[in-house]
Amino acid sequence: MTEKFIPLIDQRQQRSLSNIPAVLQEPSGLLSDAMGRPLHDLRISVTDRCNFRCVYCMPKEVFGKDYPYLPHASLLSFEEITRIAKIFAAHGVKKIRLTGGEPLLRKNIEDLIAMLASIRTTDGTPLDLTLTTNGSLLTKKAQTLKDAGLSRVTVSLDALNDVIFKRMNDVDFSVAEVLEGIQAAHAAGLGPVKVNMVVKAGMNDQEITSMARYFKDTPHILRFIEYMDVGASNGWQLDEVIPSAEVIRRIREAGMPLLPIDANYAGETAERWQHLDGKGEIGVISSVTQAFCRDCSRVRLSTEGQLYTCLFASTGHDLRHLLRNSEAISDFQIANVIASIWNVRSDRYSELRSQHTEGLHAERKKIEMSYIGG
Ligand code: SAM
Ligand code: SF4
Ligand code: SF4
Repeated sequence: MTEKFIPLIDQRQQRSLSNIPAVLQEPSGLLSDAMGRPLHDLRISVTDRCNFRCVYCMPKEVFGKDYPYLPHASLLSFEEITRIAKIFAAHGVKKIRLTGGEPLLRKNIEDLIAMLASIRTTDGTPLDLTLTTNGSLLTKKAQTLKDAGLSRVTVSLDALNDVIFKRMNDVDFSVAEVLEGIQAAHAAGLGPVKVNMVVKAGMNDQEITSMARYFKDTPHILRFIEYMDVGASNGWQLDEVIPSAEVIRRIREAGMPLLPIDANYAGETAERWQHLDGKGEIGVISSVTQAFCRDCSRVRLSTEGQLYTCLFASTGHDLRHLLRNSEAISDFQIANVIASIWNVRSDRYSELRSQHTEGLHAERKKIEMSYIGG
């Protein structure tokens, strides 16, 4: 047996203070980074805490009882998040995804959703407001989330077999409760519900075909995610990744023929497939084997207000110090700071990783998924 070394490091300290540019410009809604990529999608982590201990995300060995979670005062308030979100909308963001940690653990999250739902895009339309959850609190909360203005949810579910699922979430949470949450979300009008399954070789890959069969004739969209080398806690190894092509092959081989279908929009992370009999769609997210950096229009805001221009970035840009500065800094100034960050963005970690995976993974210091959100 090979032993895995799980480093205990705190990447949250690495941040850069953002300066206000000397020459200020009105946001045009058409930001473009150094590689010509627009800014459309903002992911906001609302908590770094979670009630699961998924082995690929928050393994118990690292996220134990004494783990130093962020103190409440460090977290952006709902007013601060909404202020930042409005500025991003003026820059052309159309979609906001709330994530974490487990976003439904953040107290009164419905109030934040209602505040974000009042924001308008540069076209005058409401934002596409979504949330990714482990589903544990969804049965209880689906209707209030919908009433607050949430558009859709994505629910993570890594297996249908209870033994395997419990081994993955490591807190003895049952499949039935997540399925009930998915049902509740659908009934509340938060559909089509996307169901995310992270596939880890030797852990849950035997569940690929039963998951595909179970969700085939439902209105929910099942998406298989390649296990990624995010953070430094999960001891990621390349041989634990099942390539999406292999996922598709196994589903076809199990008697479920699939046809590729067009992307909904440029930059969509999932490659879409449809069952040949027209009953149901699945998606594959190939972050490891087929990098999609070229169209990446996503930016991430951490729980404490650090802005990350890539999931694999080691350093965040501190926006919170602008929000809490003793000299009042205007939205206009903050908008210009954000523009100056995006204009020089050249991140393309996954593409580079595809070229020399092991080396790049080993040499980078990366932040945890539970801190920055998926
Ligand atoms: N707790 C919520 C949940 O699990 O849906 C939201 C946060 S979670 C970090 C967001 C997504 O990231 C989940 O779908 C999760 O499965 C995925 N994820 C976490 N670690 C991952 C990894 N190492 N590789 C691929 N996906 C990962
Ligand atoms: Fe929690 Fe989501 Fe990470 Fe699982 S994937 S530990 S549910 S934050
Ligand atoms: Fe975007 Fe970075 Fe992921 Fe590439 S690696 S798709 S730039 S978040």
